[in-house]
Amino acid sequence: MLAYADGRRRLVCRPTEPSRRVRTLSDVVLPRRCAGCRAPGDWLCSSCRDACEPEALALGPSLRGRAAGTFAGPLREAIHAFKYGGEHALSNELGALVARLVAGDLATGTLLDAVIVVPLHRDRLRERGYDQALLLAERVASSGALSLLPALHRIRRTDPQVVLDRAERARNLGGAFVGVADSLRGLRVALVDDVATTGATLRSAAAAARACGARSVRAYVIASDA
Ligand SMILES: [Zn+2]
Repeated sequence: MLAYADGRRRLVCRPTEPSRRVRTLSDVVLPRRCAGCRAPGDWLCSSCRDACEPEALALGPSLRGRAAGTFAGPLREAIHAFKYGGEHALSNELGALVARLVAGDLATGTLLDAVIVVPLHRDRLRERGYDQALLLAERVASSGALSLLPALHRIRRTDPQVVLDRAERARNLGGAFVGVADSLRGLRVALVDDVATTGATLRSAAAAARACGARSVRAYVIASDA
């Protein structure tokens, strides 16, 4: 459960107990197959993972970021299963790809203090039942021994005033996100999302993070679909 500036407790980030039981049962009954090549064993097999070539994201002059691969082939199939096929267990393998990017940057001198996530809107969360970027971010944070901070909240363009009226400390940040003022003060944050297309969402979320006091922001995604 994430708490946001407006005080509402609206996010249910993990499957409910009944669906967790169903998932566990299906794991037993149905053997795992690679979402990319259908080979039995893993949700995303090691050869499909190794086929991913990390790439830099073209996000403009104010934001740097990396993708674990291109949105194509097995990675595209895996992400599709993860986002729309209910295969939230893929968060482990796909999150590992993003975690590898972060670990590589940490090993080469990039300083990061915390992980934040591009949040899903609550209506989408209700439809899907899980926040795919949050699952990735949890994997990244645990791998890198970094804190995962619930700093940002996605608001609808049609109802920002409803949220802002109830959130005295929240600021309107470009219309797409609000954040808790000062919640990231002085921190160098890794911003995690699933797929980058135009980069507009990442730039908007990064701006929100900076408005919350972040000293620097670097973006990390599974795949680039530019
Ligand atoms: Zn495979």
